[in-house]
Amino acid sequence: MNLLIENAVVFTNHDHGGILNDHSVAIEGTHIRDIGPTSELSSKYADFQRLDAGGRLLMPGLINAHMHFYGTYARGLALRQAPTNFEEILSKLWWKLDSSLDLDAVYYSALVPAISAVKNGVTAVIDHHASPNAVDGSLDKIEEALTLLGLRGVLCYEVSDRDGKEICKKGLSENARYIKKCRDARESNSDHLYDAMVGLHASFTLDNDTLKQASDLSQSTERGCHIHVLEGEVDRTRTREKYNSDVVERLEQTGILGAKSIAAHGIYLTADGIDRLASTDTMLVHNPQSNMNNAVGRADIFTFLDKNILTGIGTDGMSADIKPDVRTANLLHKHDLRDSNVGWSEIQRMTLKNNPMIYERLTGQKIGRIEKDCLADVILVDYYPPTPMTADNIWGHVLFGIADAVVDTTIINGRMVMQNKQIPGLDEERLAAQSRECTERVWKKFFS
Ligand SMILES: [Zn+2]
Repeated sequence: MNLLIENAVVFTNHDHGGILNDHSVAIEGTHIRDIGPTSELSSKYADFQRLDAGGRLLMPGLINAHMHFYGTYARGLALRQAPTNFEEILSKLWWKLDSSLDLDAVYYSALVPAISAVKNGVTAVIDHHASPNAVDGSLDKIEEALTLLGLRGVLCYEVSDRDGKEICKKGLSENARYIKKCRDARESNSDHLYDAMVGLHASFTLDNDTLKQASDLSQSTERGCHIHVLEGEVDRTRTREKYNSDVVERLEQTGILGAKSIAAHGIYLTADGIDRLASTDTMLVHNPQSNMNNAVGRADIFTFLDKNILTGIGTDGMSADIKPDVRTANLLHKHDLRDSNVGWSEIQRMTLKNNPMIYERLTGQKIGRIEKDCLADVILVDYYPPTPMTADNIWGHVLFGIADAVVDTTIINGRMVMQNKQIPGLDEERLAAQSRECTERVWKKFFS
């Protein structure tokens, strides 16, 4: 489809683009072809389908760089006994929940947040999935859910030895199978919506032989690893106890780190660990809401950025929308450091520049900017700035206005997946009811 979005205020999010008033954007197929004044583009693209933006803000879709779709089924789940530390949060909530998922639950727990992502202007998600009793085909189920919406994604299965060697092996196979599936799809269609990584839980639940196999898979397929790194102190202490090793040193030595790998969290990184991530060019994703929710501490994003670690931002399953985490990041570091001047430009960089760069590094696709030849992942937002909006002050508008504004239209890969706040053909109420039915089964298993 060729589409001309007319009469928009365009936030290009590229270095020299700025804010363009009364502009139009021409989308040809899956990519952005042209940007120019509405008066010029109207005649130039006379045969394109028209969409009147009505003076709304047109900006690139947002990216969530670390997500767990299956976390949906923790919503409203009341534990009989409160966990007392992060290790118990994992063992008494998350590992019990992921063990209770079947393939239907994988599908619906991805579908519900995928709807929310599209509604909130998130157009691409890097997910990290676990369902140890439904491993085979689980990534296909997530892809199926995202496909229903048209949401873009990079998926992986969370390999771990915590459920034994057989399930661990299945996890590795699921990653290998899905990597191949995505590669084949990309070969026949360069605009394919999905890509894959090698998913790994965290150092303290991964034996040496598993890390070796994951590293071999990563190298043979040229896909990076996606792993939690020092989210809690437990990663450091248990890795020392079980493997007599330092977490980051171990991951580096086994070949898990690298320019296409993502380390999520990094709260307990030492200076040496930060240097190792920097020297291997490993990417890092900060998840402020989750870190606060688990009371695990604050990641030193300032040092990460100073050391040129490509640092992005994710939700870690807390929400499908990235904006609450962006706002939380803005507040968390100020609050924790008792310094109202920190975290402004850094969070802007992580959200608007680094998340697209992370996605681009993983997939090779140009994304996150309204620029010729970039993928047409854009959103129209009901935002009419009450004060002057320029390239220099856009971040203030994002944090204190755009983050609260309603998304009207979401376009992914050149396709209108939501228009006038409606997702065509989607019966959300019915799907939510089906999800609740599924949850009953999952929760019954959880408490059995
Ligand atoms: Zn996570």
